[in-house]
Amino acid sequence: VTQAHLNRIAEVDGAVNAFLHLDAEGALAAARAVDEAAEPASALAGVPLALKDVLTTRDMPTTCGSKTLEGWVPPYDATVTRKLREAGMPILGKTNMDEFAMGSSTENSAFGPTRNPWDPTRIPGGSGGGSAASLAAFEAPLAIGTDTGGSIRQPGAVTGTVGVKPTYGGVSRYGLVAFSSSLDQAGPCARTVLDAALLHEVIAGHDPLDSTSIDAPVPPVVAAAREGLRGDLTGVKVGVVTEFAGDGYQAGVQRSFEAAVAQLRALGAEVVEVSCPNFTYALPAYYLIAPSECSSNLARFDAMRYGLRVADDGRHSAEEVMSLTREAGFGAEVKRRVMLGTYALSSGYYDAYYGSAQKVRTLIKRDFDDAFERVDVLVSPTTPTTAFKIGERVDDPLAMYLADLCTIPANLAGNAAMSVPSGLSDEDGLPVGLQIMAPALADDRLYRVGAAYE
Ligand code: GLN
Repeated sequence: VTQAHLNRIAEVDGAVNAFLHLDAEGALAAARAVDEAAEPASALAGVPLALKDVLTTRDMPTTCGSKTLEGWVPPYDATVTRKLREAGMPILGKTNMDEFAMGSSTENSAFGPTRNPWDPTRIPGGSGGGSAASLAAFEAPLAIGTDTGGSIRQPGAVTGTVGVKPTYGGVSRYGLVAFSSSLDQAGPCARTVLDAALLHEVIAGHDPLDSTSIDAPVPPVVAAAREGLRGDLTGVKVGVVTEFAGDGYQAGVQRSFEAAVAQLRALGAEVVEVSCPNFTYALPAYYLIAPSECSSNLARFDAMRYGLRVADDGRHSAEEVMSLTREAGFGAEVKRRVMLGTYALSSGYYDAYYGSAQKVRTLIKRDFDDAFERVDVLVSPTTPTTAFKIGERVDDPLAMYLADLCTIPANLAGNAAMSVPSGLSDEDGLPVGLQIMAPALADDRLYRVGAAYE
């Protein structure tokens, strides 16, 4: 199976560009170890997968899509990486992404964009476009992504694949190169909901190496997916988020969403409309909180500790080496975020920007809490539009940011959320995603509803 996927990668990845680094030898060695083992290490032993290049790997470079880390081989494995290895899953390679996971199209990668296998002139979503495209192009049966504001779910939606952002703290962040620590969460990418559940179970669970890791049992996601596959949602209450419709939503996306709601009803779910008024402020709050945390996290790339160092010729001061290295190593979007974040956190502006954004975050959390008193899950389109053209939004950061309009609330509140394929748009024939959101620690509800729907 591993060799077949390596062959497929050799055949198509020149055009797709889903992978930044391949480890054929390591993957085949892991596969052979599974063949030789007396007992399989897990239900997924021998199933190869693709890993987003933001998770550290002892034996492979980890670049985060940045020139700053080009060629850097970490001295340790992320907890997620370690768990995959222990489960006997061969790691095919590291996937392309927007630099430091900042973006919605994978065009911010320093190593060229990934192409959407459905239409190579279009983006595969981002920041985890490489992971999603590797699934859609059948280069890997499973992949790992990370989701700070939608980077698992939005690529899932626009490539017709399944993407899950687990409850914040449900999967260890140890070895996940930090973008926005209070939002970042790794999760499974797959072509079916049950596949995602099996991978979820491998990577989830408490980790003493991550202080925000939740010390609670992993929600029964596999059992829930199997239950969902029976196709009966009797007794499940579904809330349609009022705010995620109207202007800015493509007609084809809206029609697909309406059909999805009708199907949930046909499966026996009770559907009601639920207003979450503060969700409207999620995007602006996110674009203060995420850049603020990023400006602090990226301070570690100081030309001294990791990766790139330029002007190290004895004629430049340490400060000059630092600033010249950052100038050369970081792309435009990363610089924009660091500047925004530094500004929002500066004395005199902190309360007005970062402080206000944190208050909005609390209001969004309360909207979720109120909603989940009435319903089991909330649903919305995953994205307002289908995959846009490569190049279409690169000069317009605000248009780019709109791709995550519907996905960001779950990150701000720490909830679990999934994107599940919802057919093709009747407007342009491109994949559409249905987003399902559940309370924190109720990830299993996503899998039950998602598996019944898909
Ligand atoms: N697109 C969002 C951003 O650019 C989300 C990124 C992510 O989830 N990593 O910040």
